[in-house]
Amino acid sequence: MAFESLTDKLQNVFKKLRSKGRLTEEDVKIALKEVKMALLEADVNFRVVKQFTKSVQERAVGQDVMNGLNPGQMVIKIVNEELVNLMGSETTELPIKPGNDLTVLMMAGLQGAGKTTTAAKLAGKIKSKGKRPLLVACDVYRPAAITQLQVNGEKQGVEVFTMGDKQSPVDIAKAAIAHAKANQQNVVIIDTAGRLHIDEDMMQELADIKSNIEVDATILVVDAMTGQDAVNVAQTFTEKVGIDGVILTKMDGDTRGGAALSIKAVTGKPILYVGMGEKLSDLEQFYPERMASRILG
Ligand code: GDP
Repeated sequence: MAFESLTDKLQNVFKKLRSKGRLTEEDVKIALKEVKMALLEADVNFRVVKQFTKSVQERAVGQDVMNGLNPGQMVIKIVNEELVNLMGSETTELPIKPGNDLTVLMMAGLQGAGKTTTAAKLAGKIKSKGKRPLLVACDVYRPAAITQLQVNGEKQGVEVFTMGDKQSPVDIAKAAIAHAKANQQNVVIIDTAGRLHIDEDMMQELADIKSNIEVDATILVVDAMTGQDAVNVAQTFTEKVGIDGVILTKMDGDTRGGAALSIKAVTGKPILYVGMGEKLSDLEQFYPERMASRILG
């Protein structure tokens, strides 16, 4: 992951602020204009940028800052805090039930976003926490997706439940849950079909699964490298299917960071994990504070 450009620009702004003993309102205004430009160039959603600079401005021209001993530092601190707020403040955990109670997770996303890979990565994480996951192949349109899940499941030492490509996703999901219960598996991870673009059939299929089985969390997988497209996809899924959180993949190749900084603010849904590479171990829990520190450099 490299927010280099954004980090460089913010550090330049901060350097200028630090070099001033006292700050005038005009100094703050100019600095925030530069922060705004840097965020826009990082492909952060423009409404998010507007709200962000407004919040920082309001706090930064307050009495405490302007009359403080070190106003430059205070402004930097405020930018940091507001960046953390933007990304959701706290880390959001998956709603995995305790003990042997069954948790059902449904993975959704466009084709190529990294859904199948991420399902297997997540299964590994969940297994390492002492749970017994079951991966379920519900992408009945691409036989290659079923094989891919089987190969990755085997690498993770996690069973993959499949019924080929002749049954409906709802029937497969139902059978998988019965299988999990019979085999003392306690986290069912359903890999659903993706399409190249958002379409009604895909949305309907996800809605059908949700209305026929009890899904504890719907996790949307989006590709960070697609920037604001990823944010738009997340917004559409939030409205049409209902999601509980997002996994942002390919952060290792994302040089700008716009999706990471916009998704929570635009959709209200938290980022749960970030994909940091193609290996099955390359999945990290998302910590807003750490991300803000990385951005600020
Ligand atoms: P799906 O169509 O959404 O199921 O996508 P796949 O799981 O098949 O992934 C599509 C491609 O993205 C594959 O080549 C994956 O190896 C790659 N991929 C998935 N996640 C990441 C990631 O976090 N970083 C990188 N660099 N590649 C990833």
